[in-house]
Amino acid sequence: MAARGDETVNKAKGPWIHRFMIYFFTVVLAVLVFWVLGFLVEDIGAIRGPQYTEIEQRYVDQDLVDRAKTLMAEITDVDRAISDKREEMRIVNDSSQNLQNTINQLIELQKLAVQRSVSLSDKEQTNLSESLAHFLESQKRYQVYNTELSRLTDRKRSLESERSAIEKKIAGQTLPAGEEFRVLREKHDLRLAGYQLLILLPMLAAGAIFVVRKRGSVYFPLFLGFAAATLLKTAFVIHRYFPARYVKYVLVGGLLIAVIKLLVYFIRVIAFPKADLLMKQYREGYERFFCPVCDFPIRRGPRKFLFWTRRTVGKLELPRGSDEDSPYSCPACGTVLFEECPKCHNIRYSLLTFCQHCGAVKEIEHGSDNAKV
Ligand SMILES: [Zn+2]
Ligand SMILES: [Zn+2]
Repeated sequence: MAARGDETVNKAKGPWIHRFMIYFFTVVLAVLVFWVLGFLVEDIGAIRGPQYTEIEQRYVDQDLVDRAKTLMAEITDVDRAISDKREEMRIVNDSSQNLQNTINQLIELQKLAVQRSVSLSDKEQTNLSESLAHFLESQKRYQVYNTELSRLTDRKRSLESERSAIEKKIAGQTLPAGEEFRVLREKHDLRLAGYQLLILLPMLAAGAIFVVRKRGSVYFPLFLGFAAATLLKTAFVIHRYFPARYVKYVLVGGLLIAVIKLLVYFIRVIAFPKADLLMKQYREGYERFFCPVCDFPIRRGPRKFLFWTRRTVGKLELPRGSDEDSPYSCPACGTVLFEECPKCHNIRYSLLTFCQHCGAVKEIEHGSDNAKV
């Protein structure tokens, strides 16, 4: 015997293209929600925090900073002067080497002339003496340049030692500035995280509640997409602002809960086969006057014109009279909920095993595939 009256049951699966579209738009919805949350979080994150340069100015003596700057400029000038001087010295050195070669050649000639007992021509003589004079002069110039160079190097060394002393002082003053900046920055980050979570957490809670409550609803993908996006964004924000040592506990806690839930689920699947769970669902549905299959209120007998929810069902005041009993099918899903007992011909629960009047047993079929378990 079928639990449902006929074949008009809501197997609302639809063609594959529609089902695919539902998956697709669920993902699109999640992405869009994630995006919007991203904008929100970004705008909050753009709130101006402490500025290091401002803090540093309060701690570091500006005269020292200025002095360090001028020293730096002076050192650059001296550096340039040194490299200019080196270039000049190289040129002088080249020319004096040329002169030396010429002089050597002339001396060779003179040696040969002496061996042959002839003397050098006048021109060669003047050449030799002129070259010698030039050579001596360039040597002298080289010496002068050399002294200038060593003077420049000395100056550079003294400038640099002054600069390093000043920088050491500045670094000493920067240290507390860095410390204060770190503390302020941490406070600012915590405040930002607070603002962001203030927006995200209520949304996440709402998403979670909807996902749990609407597990059987046809609109479930909507809530799932929303909840997934919010969860992901919240995880990112937490990961960004809170030190890993705290996040670790939250993460492990979440995993623990998930694993325990899975364990409980599988233990229940083994301990109570599906049929038992389904029976439980049917029983709970009847208890609260909701269709056990689709949760639509069972409005029969004295409850015909009443409205209730799972919470208010116990507080209803029932009108008197109208005890008449008749078969009843759920108007929402077509499931037969009350029917005539074939044995005693009273009205009995269709989805429960025994007749409440005569105790006749009925085989309940559990093939329903859209039952919530
Ligand atoms: Zn129903
Ligand atoms: Zn009966």
